[in-house]
Amino acid sequence: MTHYPIEKWKAYVNDELTEYEREEVEQHLYSCDRCLELYMAVIEQEGEDMPVVEDERAFTEAVLQETTVTVKKQRKPSIQKKTVIHYVIAASMTLTLMTTGFFEGGIQMVSSVEQTYQHGQIDSFSAEVLNYVTGLFELLEANEREG
Ligand SMILES: [Zn+2]
Repeated sequence: MTHYPIEKWKAYVNDELTEYEREEVEQHLYSCDRCLELYMAVIEQEGEDMPVVEDERAFTEAVLQETTVTVKKQRKPSIQKKTVIHYVIAASMTLTLMTTGFFEGGIQMVSSVEQTYQHGQIDSFSAEVLNYVTGLFELLEANEREG
């Protein structure tokens, strides 16, 4: 398997890749947790002015807010929103990896998001990922309450 250098992930996070390149690296991301780690390191570096990710509750709220905005207004995402979307993608992938076997729908969801993306429906790709992660957060919160 050919891995991508950190520069590539920086370009990806900063939205500097061509559509073809982006598709390529995203496909790779689905199957390589080594590059997923690099990718997430870049997000942390590049997203320093973003909501503090260490504060899980604030992060959840930020994501939920983002979901509301995306779903209600369907605006073109700003650079900052794109970064949030990157957070969300990374979070959903991490959660999917972490919960494989436990959350069986995860993998299926990722592949359906993948398919959506391949059809060039980028806006609905983002929305689907956001919806998916929102669902995961709800699931996690429900678990927290029960435990
Ligand atoms: Zn890789």
